[in-house]
Amino acid sequence: MKKISILGATGSIGTQTLDILREHPSEFKLVSISIGKNLDLARKMILEFQPELVSVQEYQDCITLKAEFPSIKFTYGVEGLVEVAVFPSADILVNAVIGSVGLNPTLQAIEAGKTIAIANKETLVTAGHLVMEAAEKNGVALLPVDSEHSAIYQCLQGEKEKNIERLILTASGGSFRDRTRKELEGVTVREALNHPNWSMGAKITIDSATMMNKGLEVIEAHWLYNMPYEKIDVLLHKESIIHSMVEFHDSSIIAQLGTPDMRVPIQYALTYPDRLPLTSSQRLDLAKIAQLHFQEMDVNRFRCMQFAYEAGKLGGTMPTVLNAANEVAVAAFLNEKINFLQIEDMIEKALNKHELIKNPDLSIIQEVDKETRQYVNSLL
Ligand code: MG
Repeated sequence: MKKISILGATGSIGTQTLDILREHPSEFKLVSISIGKNLDLARKMILEFQPELVSVQEYQDCITLKAEFPSIKFTYGVEGLVEVAVFPSADILVNAVIGSVGLNPTLQAIEAGKTIAIANKETLVTAGHLVMEAAEKNGVALLPVDSEHSAIYQCLQGEKEKNIERLILTASGGSFRDRTRKELEGVTVREALNHPNWSMGAKITIDSATMMNKGLEVIEAHWLYNMPYEKIDVLLHKESIIHSMVEFHDSSIIAQLGTPDMRVPIQYALTYPDRLPLTSSQRLDLAKIAQLHFQEMDVNRFRCMQFAYEAGKLGGTMPTVLNAANEVAVAAFLNEKINFLQIEDMIEKALNKHELIKNPDLSIIQEVDKETRQYVNSLL
């Protein structure tokens, strides 16, 4: 039986991970979780799964839950995330928190020898070199949960890195894929949150609408697959049936397909290299779908993708700035402090202002992350 820890248990990936555990009670046991502020959902999870350790965001919530569940250990804050990440009996850490707050717990879990199922793409964007170096040094597997990266992982089974021509990430195009730039002026938060294919959390749904999500995924793919940016392409594919592809030197392309259901890549990360049935997932019926559509990516229309490629190629602290500026700008948009197109403006300003630092260590990354957040907040 594999023992599982989850960072971000009450979020979209977290709850879908619990669906997998519920479907396979003899395969997995939940041992520790972190949650944010959703105490009602946390109570249900505690009653159902009886984890040994629960970390919450706020001290006060920790006290409240402790009184209700005296047999369970509670902790809180950023230190609490680390405690969950390194929980001694856990085999796999599912990192499903949002944002670069996931970086330190990931590094600590790697040091502790945990297998990492990584859904927290911001961690790889902000400090991919540190994460990959630590994983290699400690012989720890980083298993992608992001559907595109899981697809590529599956396409690469039994293949050699030297034979890869390029990676092709597919993109649904998000909530505004059919709008012109002009039509993006004045779009509302509610419209932006209405993703056509995937049910996801608020931050990633906005990232999909700006296309920053795909930009972050390009950087994520660069690190996970040790692939230069010139060999990572993005293709618009509005049905989200082909989750991504790999082209090889002999011109053969291998793709991974399925209905858009995040539980499939989550389960693959938990069962790898094995597979288990997933009875509740809808099977793909290609005859019924009949047609799939593809379109070239327009980087002038989606400037965030361009920023991500540029920041990724420059490397050093640039992706850290890209990510931190985006996190603050998206939060400001969700709080209706800025309009949709201002998200891009904020990120562009932060990137232009920053002086690149090469080969940053963890303390420099954390400092740049903090400075960038302060700067973008000062623009609001
Ligand atoms: Mg994705």
